[in-house]
Amino acid sequence: MKITTVNPATEQELHSYDSYSSDAVHEIVNSVDESFAVWGAQSIRERMACFSRAATHLRSNIDAYAGLITREMGKPIREARAEIEKCAWCCDTYAEHAASWLTDEKSLADGIEHRIVYRPLGVILAVMPWNYPFWQVFRCAVPVMSAGNTIVLKHASSVSGCALACENVFAAAGFPENSFRTVLADYQTVNDLLAGPVVQGLSLTGSTSAGMRLGEIAGKYMKKMVLELGGSDPFIVLPDADIDFCATAAVKGRFQNCGQSCIAAKRFIVHAGIVDEFADAFAHKAGELNVGNPLDEATDMGPLVNSTSLQEIQQQLADACSSGATVLTGGTRVGDRGFFFGPTVVKNVTRRMKIFTEEVFGPVAAIVPYNDLDEALDLANECEYGLGGSVWTRDLDKGRELALNIEAGAVFVNSITRSDPRMPLGGIKMSGVGRELAWFGLKEFTNIKGLNVYAHKA
Ligand code: NAP
Repeated sequence: MKITTVNPATEQELHSYDSYSSDAVHEIVNSVDESFAVWGAQSIRERMACFSRAATHLRSNIDAYAGLITREMGKPIREARAEIEKCAWCCDTYAEHAASWLTDEKSLADGIEHRIVYRPLGVILAVMPWNYPFWQVFRCAVPVMSAGNTIVLKHASSVSGCALACENVFAAAGFPENSFRTVLADYQTVNDLLAGPVVQGLSLTGSTSAGMRLGEIAGKYMKKMVLELGGSDPFIVLPDADIDFCATAAVKGRFQNCGQSCIAAKRFIVHAGIVDEFADAFAHKAGELNVGNPLDEATDMGPLVNSTSLQEIQQQLADACSSGATVLTGGTRVGDRGFFFGPTVVKNVTRRMKIFTEEVFGPVAAIVPYNDLDEALDLANECEYGLGGSVWTRDLDKGRELALNIEAGAVFVNSITRSDPRMPLGGIKMSGVGRELAWFGLKEFTNIKGLNVYAHKA
């Protein structure tokens, strides 16, 4: 099978790859399993030294890797550089903290010694999406490998160049041979790998439908799994909030990466008393974004990833407009070459419209008014997803209380949802199972083993 990558800004073909045969993939996975004997046996301090070298390598090659990201999936070059820097930061964070995060824990029971130790499982299959082609891989691999596991990566086909470049980072940083390998493989081969005896776990980031399909196989074959899936985060603005501050944050939270982020703010739930003022400020700032060639340093927003995404956004927006929603800015394709769509702010959205009920994976912001906090919370939680969410107010006590009642894995007061290697990330409801990052991500793919020692009867 041929895999062809396309530049979404120009619609030009970038590269054509032959996907690996099933035999070749299985041979690679066996070599990753052999490497587990080496990597898993190293002390955590030896492993951490590798991650420090990976951080240095990423920073030394930031322009090459960022350029590849931008060409393959279209994000502005400034955002692509920030993505590589974030991967390096994640490596540094684990190099500093993983040893203490993975320390054995003592427990009290009725014997002489009771200890909980964390042991790696073996080869973990990482199935990753295109939207943050390096960060998603490092967000999974750094904690999982810090714990002593090895990785085989099946990346999104559209970023096959990034998939191979990620493999190169681990080789160049001097990790044991085959401890991290990429396979360019078709779905059947991936499914067979997951069902087979070598792979011990699945870490999938992607759509909820892909999570359901691969999660079913993982469940059937008793494989540990972490699924990081779709989201439709609420952004709740209270009447005391500073409109300009919130509108600036809303632009970043909705339009960075052209709106193609699982933890993007997608539903703007705004107090009825300020909704018009907020909507106007938000639309004004969105309209100022510079949309165009993502390799240009001045560009704020690049294209959507492909024509299917473009069509989906257009359909979701058409559904809202036909039911009475009002477009304040954007709403149309930009140019006729490349998959560009203008940053779009929509008001008069209701809870029955698709832009409220479905995940909108593109640059469209839906604004819904509320009258009291119960209604705001009800709107926020009336959603099949539960990934992130934010509350905007000067009253931190009120903000904290509301945030804690949002049904999501990560909630923020006066900040857009963001991932941070020191905090766990993951969802509830249809947004997935399990956690990445911090000590939770480090321990997800470990055998949490209880060591119990009793006196020998004399
Ligand atoms: P996707 O279509 O589900 O693809 C994700 C990955 O799964 C790709 O590598 C894809 O390969 C692979 N895949 C899909 N079906 C498969 C199957 N049956 N067997 C084997 N592999 C399969 O998602 P996407 O379009 O790349 O990413 C967008 C979605 O990811 C959004 O819903 C977004 O919210 C979610 N996401 C979630 C998080 C989070 O942390 N929760 C983070 C980022 C993105 P191919 O590319 O070859 O099809």
